[in-house]
Amino acid sequence: MNDKNKNNMGPKMPPNILYYLAVAILVTMLINSLLSFMNSSGTSKEIKYNEFIQMVQEGKIDTVEIQSDRLIGYPKAAEPTEPAPTQDPLASMFDQSKAAAADPKLDKFYTGYIYDEKLLETLNASGVAYSTPVNDRNPIVDLFLTWILPILLIYGASMILLNSLSKRMGGGKGGFMSFGQSNAKVYVEKKTGITFDDVAGQEEAKESLMEIVDFLHNPEKYMDIGAKQPKGALLVGPPGTGKTLLAKAVAGEANVAFFSLSGSDFVEMFVGVGASRVRDLFKQANQMAPCIIFIDEIDAIGKSRDGQIGGNDEREQTLNQLLSEMDGFDSSKGVVILAATNRPEILDRALLRPGRFDRRIIVERPDLKGREDILKVHVKKVKMSTKVDLKKIALATSGAAGADLANIVNEAALRAVRMSRMEVSQEDMMEAVEVIVAGKEKKDRIMTEKEKRIVAFHEVGHALASARQKNTQPVQKITIVPRTMGALGYVMQMPEEEHYLMTKDEMLDEITVNMAGRAAEEIVFSLQTTGAANDISNATKMARNMVALYGMSDKFGMMALSSIENQYLDGRQVSQVSSVTEADIDKAVNEIIDGCYKKAKGILEANRTELAEIAEFLIQKETITGEEFMEILAKYPNEAKPLF
Ligand code: ADP
Ligand code: MG
Ligand code: ZN
Repeated sequence: MNDKNKNNMGPKMPPNILYYLAVAILVTMLINSLLSFMNSSGTSKEIKYNEFIQMVQEGKIDTVEIQSDRLIGYPKAAEPTEPAPTQDPLASMFDQSKAAAADPKLDKFYTGYIYDEKLLETLNASGVAYSTPVNDRNPIVDLFLTWILPILLIYGASMILLNSLSKRMGGGKGGFMSFGQSNAKVYVEKKTGITFDDVAGQEEAKESLMEIVDFLHNPEKYMDIGAKQPKGALLVGPPGTGKTLLAKAVAGEANVAFFSLSGSDFVEMFVGVGASRVRDLFKQANQMAPCIIFIDEIDAIGKSRDGQIGGNDEREQTLNQLLSEMDGFDSSKGVVILAATNRPEILDRALLRPGRFDRRIIVERPDLKGREDILKVHVKKVKMSTKVDLKKIALATSGAAGADLANIVNEAALRAVRMSRMEVSQEDMMEAVEVIVAGKEKKDRIMTEKEKRIVAFHEVGHALASARQKNTQPVQKITIVPRTMGALGYVMQMPEEEHYLMTKDEMLDEITVNMAGRAAEEIVFSLQTTGAANDISNATKMARNMVALYGMSDKFGMMALSSIENQYLDGRQVSQVSSVTEADIDKAVNEIIDGCYKKAKGILEANRTELAEIAEFLIQKETITGEEFMEILAKYPNEAKPLF
């Protein structure tokens, strides 16, 4: 995303290699034809073998040169010759060869060599001088021209090819013979221009990193007391929470050189290139100390070495080089290594041991206050109405990472421009949140009247189930305007404050709210539609977690049935039990969902009139606010709980 310091070579082959290859081939061909031309100069004519022998016998030929593949005859000077002593059955042939021999322009004949025992005999008998050519060229020159020169040319071409390949794959200057070396200087950013003020909501991480900055400023303070600075710190957390940003901020605060590489920069097709890059990097960093080396996405090289089929030589070599470089350098010189990853569980243990990345800094998704602070950082860059309530936005974006919040502010600014407004309003911000969550409004999608009714009752079903239960979040907005990410309508709920724990009752109530959409379809229209797919998937996930992760089922009690992998990415669950137990889990999950569905149906049946009135109002207005919803509901003093 922000790798502005990358080399960007195009994927196409540099044209000079093709030229070079073409020239090399041409030169070789030229040399060869030159050589054969030297062997055979003068005008010549090909004739039949028997004609040739006949001419010899007739004494028309002066000398014969016997070559490996041909016989060359040099005719006598054009003087009248005696008739041949032998009888010739082919008179016409005789005439022809005579005519040929008389041609003054021709100075030799040749014919293909046929194995002929009598050849020498015939030549001797006719008194023709014969010989076979002696190569009078220097054999060394010959060898050079036919072998060494072409080899040199082809070697040169391939060196240029390899060289440009290595350059394309992220190396630096790459001279003619420097294949495989990188120039880590490419990656130095002297000033990142980012400080800790640009990073919000990560106070603990900042505190840990502050110490590193302090060390780079006054190392003596630490050395006097005999404290060693940690060599490396590993920033761990989900994507978009500001790990890269924090590393840049450290460099900005410490005001030292910043070497920034991504783990994938080391991973090469050629074994040994990555390792030599690591070596180069550390060499240069040592020269520029104090400085910071930052390896982003370190999991690309730091993957655990064991448990792999086949393994990956290149990555292992690179990792080994990194390990030994980290051992080899002296942190008192002021070189600090930072690395970032969102998959710490796959890192090789050797990387994590004391003396290497011994400090782990967790960069979690921000909490409510953190989100508000991050929004504050980002709204500084846009013109914002003073009436905007950032706390409300922060409340509506539970679970969002810093990158999402930056995105929301930008979306809001774009919307303000679209609406030709001079500043960003609260409405822009709320709409941006929805765009991030559900996609853009799809006003041009025309639903039939019937579909619209079904969607309206479905959504009001959700809202009512939420309002009529105790452990739920207040309804913020109900809409039946379709969105690009698939929703035909939805209910937006917003917590009044942020929770870090969820009780079993809250979870059950939420599953019930999810079930209420389908319940409304059934009660009002006696229908089941595909619109409930998302609700069903959410409810099932939650019920499964209750059983398998949180020990909230009667059947299994507090037994761990699955574990979480990749906690900073997709948080995938891996089952820990046999397939027999698996079937029981499914049953338990089903029971929870079933119970909640019955409860949802009960609630809606008890609130049939409210359901109809609010749904009709929604069909007419397409989007209603939580206040409008509560106003109608207040007319029916069921067991309604006060919401605002
Ligand atoms: P990652 O953790 O994946 O490395 P980045 O550091 O690249 O995330 O964050 C991407 C962008 O998101 C940053 O450039 C910044 O604009 C924004 N961002 C993320 N976290 C924060 C934060 N804590 N404070 C301010 N902005 C943040
Ligand atoms: Mg990053
Ligand atoms: Zn629904």
